[in-house]
Amino acid sequence: MGVKLRVAICGGGIGGLTLAVALSRYHDIQVDVYEAAGQFKEIGAGVMIWARTWEILSMLGMAEDFARIAHAPPDQAPGIGFDYRRSDHPQEGSRFYLFQVPYGCIRFHRAQFLDVLINHLPDGVAHFGKRLTTYTYSPSSHGRDGGQITLHFADDSTAECDLLVGCDGIKSTIRKQMLTDHVRKHGGDPKLLNHIEPVWSGTTAYRGLIPVHRLVKPDGRKHRTIDSPMMDKHVVSYSISAGSIVNVVTFASQPQLYDTPYDGVWVTNCSPAEIQACYAGWEPEVDELLKCIEKPTKWAIHELKPLPFYFTGRVVLLGDAAHAMTPHQGAGAGQAIEDAFILAEVLGHRQTTLSTLSRALTAYERVRLPMANHVLKGSRQSGNMYEFNGPLADNLVPLGPLIGSQWDWLWDSTPQTERDRALGMLHYARASL
Ligand SMILES: Cc1cc2nc3c(=O)[nH]c(=O)nc-3n(C[C@H](O)[C@H](O)[C@H](O)COP(=O)(O)OP(=O)(O)OC[C@H]3O[C@@H](n4cnc5c(N)ncnc54)[C@H](O)[C@@H]3O)c2cc1C
Repeated sequence: MGVKLRVAICGGGIGGLTLAVALSRYHDIQVDVYEAAGQFKEIGAGVMIWARTWEILSMLGMAEDFARIAHAPPDQAPGIGFDYRRSDHPQEGSRFYLFQVPYGCIRFHRAQFLDVLINHLPDGVAHFGKRLTTYTYSPSSHGRDGGQITLHFADDSTAECDLLVGCDGIKSTIRKQMLTDHVRKHGGDPKLLNHIEPVWSGTTAYRGLIPVHRLVKPDGRKHRTIDSPMMDKHVVSYSISAGSIVNVVTFASQPQLYDTPYDGVWVTNCSPAEIQACYAGWEPEVDELLKCIEKPTKWAIHELKPLPFYFTGRVVLLGDAAHAMTPHQGAGAGQAIEDAFILAEVLGHRQTTLSTLSRALTAYERVRLPMANHVLKGSRQSGNMYEFNGPLADNLVPLGPLIGSQWDWLWDSTPQTERDRALGMLHYARASL
């Protein structure tokens, strides 16, 4: 079978690799992943997903492999999404809301998560040490219908494709060029340039991993978070790696600093004393947990201002490059995976050819942009609520259900209905931007 489409994926994180796996199911699509680093790599931390992301991983034939590395084999029965607990007093705290959903939250070690995707990549697809610096568009060269894109890498090499997918993360080079070209070369609204740089959310996060045995007392009593994902004034903790490790992320926010410049380095090491001082005076369970973190890292949490479009011409954005969000709904990676699923479905459809590519990209954008941008905005609101900075402050009785309703997007549709909607749109074309 001939190749109908050459797709270059720039960036081999969770989004880029999921897209590569999903596209490799189609024999008439050539897939290449260009990764800046010398190998695919994820940080040593946890990542959680929800039922709809699990369904996508299952549809892509990876359920068995992911089940093996989850905190426990995923199970459709209602499970704990998060146990919300007020902890910011020295006395023992108490639950103010229990968020339960089918499958609960499904938790992984990030490096293991990436390994499953890597193991499903066909040979020859990955190219390392390829940091994209710019791309150029040449109309109708080599007889390809509608021209092609040339990728230029920092090592002075080049590559060609019909479609470039920017999966290059929150600081995306491709987003920057796409928006700059759109404004400077095609007369787009100059306000779009405000969407190039991520904005600081005003939140600092501390992350660390704890071997689970450190959270079991000599008398056998276990820390609550081993069995139950916890959320406090804003300490998030849950077990990963078949229950052998507890992942901790803590947050400290100054909402008034939203969208102010953050001058420091985004990710640094920090001392255990710094994180303990930040939550001094909290309930004993939190204290015990934080004292077990040996090598915390400190993160300045940034997000994007929601983009009004995700593609121009034959360049399209996916994952954090399109909609980097705060992590307060544990959804950035899940949204990247959902992007990858929908984009692969529309590109792989038999109606999609080089000459109808813009229809496929339009369908992808129409389905994915509203949801991903909704989750982006909702995540920030959720973060405010977790720290009692939302409209209900610490009025805990109505606050719990309001927090729960922030997750409604999980159930408003399914990945299958979103896919069917996208495929149904393949006969529409978007007016050019
Ligand atoms: C504290 C924290 C906790 C989180 N927890 C969760 C969670 O529990 N659940 C969840 O769903 N999400 C979570 N997220 C969000 C999630 O981590 C991201 O949304 C997700 O990893 C984005 O994946 P991506 O593939 O789009 O980008 P990335 O993972 O950033 O991958 C981008 C890739 O592109 C490469 N690259 C960059 N520039 C170039 C270039 N010019 N050329 C070539 N390659 C390039 C990079 O090396 C990298 O490999 C969390 C985020 C944070 C900060």
